[in-house]
Amino acid sequence: MLGIMQDWPLTVNKILEHANRINPTREIITRRVEGNISRTTYAELFTMSKQVSNALKDHGIGMSDRVATLGWNSERHMASWYGAMGIGAVLHTINPRLHPEQIAWIANHAEDKVLIFDKTFLPIVEAIKDHLETVKTFVIYADADTMPENSLGAIPFDIWIDGRSDECRWGDFPEDTACGLCYTSGTTGNPKGVLYSHRSNVLHTMITMQKDAIGMGANDVVLPVVPMFHANAWGLALSCPATGANMVMPGAQMDGASIYELLDTEKVTITAAVPTVWLMLLNHLQENNLKLPHLNKVIIGGSAVPEKILRAFEEDYEVDVVHAWGMTETSPLGTLGTLPPHMLDAPIEERLEQKLKQGRPPFGVELKIVDDEGNDLPNDGDTTGRLMVRGAAIAAGYFKGVGGNVLDDNGFFDTGDVAHIDEYGTMTITDRAKDVIKSGGEWISSIDIENIAVGHPKVANAAAIGIYHPKWDERPLLVVQPAQGENPTKEEVLAQLDGKIAKWWTPDDVVFVSEIPLGATGKINKLALREQFKDYKLPTA
Ligand code: AMP
Repeated sequence: MLGIMQDWPLTVNKILEHANRINPTREIITRRVEGNISRTTYAELFTMSKQVSNALKDHGIGMSDRVATLGWNSERHMASWYGAMGIGAVLHTINPRLHPEQIAWIANHAEDKVLIFDKTFLPIVEAIKDHLETVKTFVIYADADTMPENSLGAIPFDIWIDGRSDECRWGDFPEDTACGLCYTSGTTGNPKGVLYSHRSNVLHTMITMQKDAIGMGANDVVLPVVPMFHANAWGLALSCPATGANMVMPGAQMDGASIYELLDTEKVTITAAVPTVWLMLLNHLQENNLKLPHLNKVIIGGSAVPEKILRAFEEDYEVDVVHAWGMTETSPLGTLGTLPPHMLDAPIEERLEQKLKQGRPPFGVELKIVDDEGNDLPNDGDTTGRLMVRGAAIAAGYFKGVGGNVLDDNGFFDTGDVAHIDEYGTMTITDRAKDVIKSGGEWISSIDIENIAVGHPKVANAAAIGIYHPKWDERPLLVVQPAQGENPTKEEVLAQLDGKIAKWWTPDDVVFVSEIPLGATGKINKLALREQFKDYKLPTA
């Protein structure tokens, strides 16, 4: 027997439709790349988004076509997002911090037809334009006055949508239709596309709105420093309009002074970013003897929260730190460190210790740990295993089938993280099985660095590993085994990498060893290397 309830497909256009009906005057406040502040209500965003839909349709964009953005957080980016998703197109957020060659590779793999971008990224787009095989239309977030000269025949965004009708039918498709695409480099090999559906995004939104998750409401003012190209700004691009919270968008400026100014003038109550951003903010606060009277909650994730940051927010500024773990593949929120009931009255030191752990899964996310054979391990807070995840907004595979089947027999996804889980469900990450380095919230492929380094005739073998860095969480150290009878220098090895990788991928140091440890299958034993260099101090630290 089926229930007798209405059919109400979970499509993301309903989120903005709700904001327009129920919280039309709540705002998105954006720091433009030109530096000035713009204010847009959800009602205005709704109109803008419908105009984007009509502009896209005029360019022949329809169901499942990919529309790419290279953009900072802004109301125009939000309008592109809802405008594309509303008509069943797929909004593909590209990470501008990747090497231009990788950006071109991703845009071609995704078969993007339209590319909408901030003018900050014009030099990148100009440099790769001849390699973009499918992009036919370029749009720049600008008006007639702020439009830069370009060789792309690009259209200024404001003129592109100006005067268009705000009538457009949204959401006439099944809820499992694809709506968003985000490539992750958090695995080995080429970046892989995570293809969100309308249903998974709406369910993830409901998950994040739980009180023990982010739990915001219409009275909140939320500052997502985390970019929209990082898994939908951790879902905030959806959950803020869903609740009616104001959004404060920092644009391109994420330094301590700029973030403080927005927190203060807009009376921000909730904010979210990787630890590196908070370090810059805390330095600015300390140097200028400033306070954070309006801020209630800071969501910190993408990398483990350093104790120094936790203590500063909680003890010096009385801001509740919520440590979050997640992945692009988990939409991204997987666990949050809101204090569980049995810890509420615990002594402060115990509460801080609890908050350094990655936290507990909200309803909608299931976690387990397994051994190398895939057998379930106990949640005893001690036994460590591979972290597996299953749920309403977890990827079941990658775009175009890249990477094959990624689920175990019970439908759990292997995160590549190593963790333990206690009897209350609190998860703690202890290591990473995947071969990547995370610097300031962005991935560096150790394998790419190694492959280029071994191309040097004086290098027999090379391994890049992440070493703790106080500002960037991790920075790459390159361990080199010289070829027989050779004595390469650090400069020679780094010169080999120059120009072939993004500048910020360059290892902070190179060390030479007589032999790089190999595992049973002949692969570099990174665990052994990480152990060997665990106390290594980078010259940049
Ligand atoms: P991404 O897909 O870029 O969001 O990266 C996801 C990965 O970042 C996870 O699989 C972890 O390796 C790492 N990560 C994210 N959040 C945390 C955290 N709170 N603590 C430790 N590692 C984290």
